[in-house]
Amino acid sequence: MPCPLCETLARVRNGVATAAVVADLDLTVVLLGENQGCPGWCVAVLKEHVEHLAHMPIVRQAAVFAEVARTAAAIRSVFGPVRINYECLGNQVAHVHWHVIPRHADDPQPSQPVWGWPSERLRGDMDPAARADLADRIARFMRAPGSCLDASIPGSSDDGT
Ligand SMILES: [Zn+2]
Repeated sequence: MPCPLCETLARVRNGVATAAVVADLDLTVVLLGENQGCPGWCVAVLKEHVEHLAHMPIVRQAAVFAEVARTAAAIRSVFGPVRINYECLGNQVAHVHWHVIPRHADDPQPSQPVWGWPSERLRGDMDPAARADLADRIARFMRAPGSCLDASIPGSSDDGT
């Protein structure tokens, strides 16, 4: 069975659905989530197909999380959410990806994870133009020099050294 996130990454590489791309980083592609019930929700998708976080060396896991943290820093700066939820689940799609979910002041259930919300609330009612604008706001912040946490971790180079 084809992996939906590998298919998404292939579409991104082919220049399709680029409006949803927030950042193309070393290890992950950061996408604006399909669900925007929490505006600014991003998903950092590992570029390689790995089904379990635990199958990656800890240094590589940390390097991936550094990119997640960089995404969260941008979301915090752009939107100023009350809290950010970090979730690496894999229950529905077994390809390592991190949800970075801003929880805003008007959150209807701030003490609960979002996954119990009705699908309409999860998805939100943002139109494509608003989604593109949102992705662009986060993307611009992530590209700005010195605007995010330094994502580098000693010993985390891709060449396995
Ligand atoms: Zn995959």
